[in-house]
Amino acid sequence: MTAQINFQVQHQGAGAARTGELTVNGRQALTPAIVQTGSATTTLTPTELHQCGTQAIKCGVLDSWRQFKDRLTELPDLHALTYWDGLIVTDSGAGQAYSWAKPRGRKPAGVNFHDPQTGTMHFYTPADALAIQQALGADVQQSFARVADYYAPVDDLNAAVDQTATWLQSEPLPENCLATIVGGGLKRARQANVDAVPAGAAGYSIGGVDATVPTEEQARLVTEVIAMLAAPKPRYLSTSGDLRQLLLLASSGIDLIDSDLAGREASMGNALVGTRRLHLDRDHLALDQRALGPDCDCPVCQAGISRAWIHRLLVRRQPLGERYLLLHNLFTVNQAMTKLRAAIAADSVPECLAEFGLDPAEM
Ligand SMILES: [Zn+2]
Repeated sequence: MTAQINFQVQHQGAGAARTGELTVNGRQALTPAIVQTGSATTTLTPTELHQCGTQAIKCGVLDSWRQFKDRLTELPDLHALTYWDGLIVTDSGAGQAYSWAKPRGRKPAGVNFHDPQTGTMHFYTPADALAIQQALGADVQQSFARVADYYAPVDDLNAAVDQTATWLQSEPLPENCLATIVGGGLKRARQANVDAVPAGAAGYSIGGVDATVPTEEQARLVTEVIAMLAAPKPRYLSTSGDLRQLLLLASSGIDLIDSDLAGREASMGNALVGTRRLHLDRDHLALDQRALGPDCDCPVCQAGISRAWIHRLLVRRQPLGERYLLLHNLFTVNQAMTKLRAAIAADSVPECLAEFGLDPAEM
């Protein structure tokens, strides 16, 4: 049985920011929310993810498809497999498949690519992407899209939109599937993609915004695309930006932001503290007995674990050091979203953004 996405906008602020409640299969997230991806989902226990305020995680599906495509019915549900009882969002796997494909692998019916591990040639189609997401029991699925880099030539971006639009119209999406919108920074192309979204689509996933796109450009694009969308439906965006970018996108009206920020910073030895990064591998922290954040309620800071100890673990390449940073960072990112939700509800978004060092004039 396919799940159904129930999304209620709770408070629409004066600007584009809004709070909401997303419920699928009895699992819930308060939005704007971070959909956790990256190392946090594979190195922390479900209990730790909850302790750090995680509401939803993202799982890729292409690896499972490559391995089990002939035995989909035998696959366990992702919740049973990972023991994570919160929301699970899957991606369509199209981004990965296209990144492995040669230009001639982009076919009207799907994408042809060489498996980098086994050398096997695979042909991955929109139907495959939905079948694997369904088999894995995703709460929120995403539709297949032809992917082009944000700065790809206009012809490529238009071709990606034409193809994605054709697929959106060719067969009905499951009730818990977000329709993917591509088209780089081209307003007309994005609009053409939006126009092809079936009326029954559960929501929108704004795709094709990669890490190289500057924050201000992302915020501009998001504002432009959101104006094209049916307001009551959830909006999803995958980004690899910093905390400032997450807050800016969430306050621009994105409901679900897929981010690996916490793990990415931890892997570089960084703690997110207020509006800045603390580089824990620096020598001047070797004797610093303070906790990472002065007023942080995360499990690491609450346990009184010092900067000095984490520094020592990091310089000796002990994995516990990165783990402590990950827990702290994850809590910090989710806490920032909690603060933003409260600010949206209280109509004080500019004040909240200023607290994080963001100039509300940028909005
Ligand atoms: Zn902390």
